[in-house]
Amino acid sequence: MEISITMPTTTIVYIGRCNERDYVFALDRGVAEKLVRQHFAFGNPSCDDYAVSNKWALSDTAPGWKIITQEVDTLKIEVELKVGDEDETSHVAWTCPVCTKAFSDDWTSGDRLPILLSCGCNDKSKFLLGVRNM
Ligand SMILES: [Zn+2]
Repeated sequence: MEISITMPTTTIVYIGRCNERDYVFALDRGVAEKLVRQHFAFGNPSCDDYAVSNKWALSDTAPGWKIITQEVDTLKIEVELKVGDEDETSHVAWTCPVCTKAFSDDWTSGDRLPILLSCGCNDKSKFLLGVRNM
């Protein structure tokens, strides 16, 4: 797949954060909340080794999960959808334009394009916006 880099565009992203650590991100607040509830870190730490918390923060400074709104620069990239059969997982294939690493992320039936993607090659807030056709 040919990689073309566009000018960054400003995008609002919703980040699911717990105790100063970012776990999930999405282009929509409702989707970010859903991703938090589905995440293995969302649960009761006293009965689950991987869980960090199952509580939503009641204020910005309180412990627990919160959805942070952030305005970030994103690069638009072209992605390829590989839709599997019924019992097969669908994937979204994409290549980071910065480090040229290839990724294949799970694509669930609720996912839509554009999709927010992230590569850890630069800094943790490097976001990419996946579209089907540039
Ligand atoms: Zn990268």
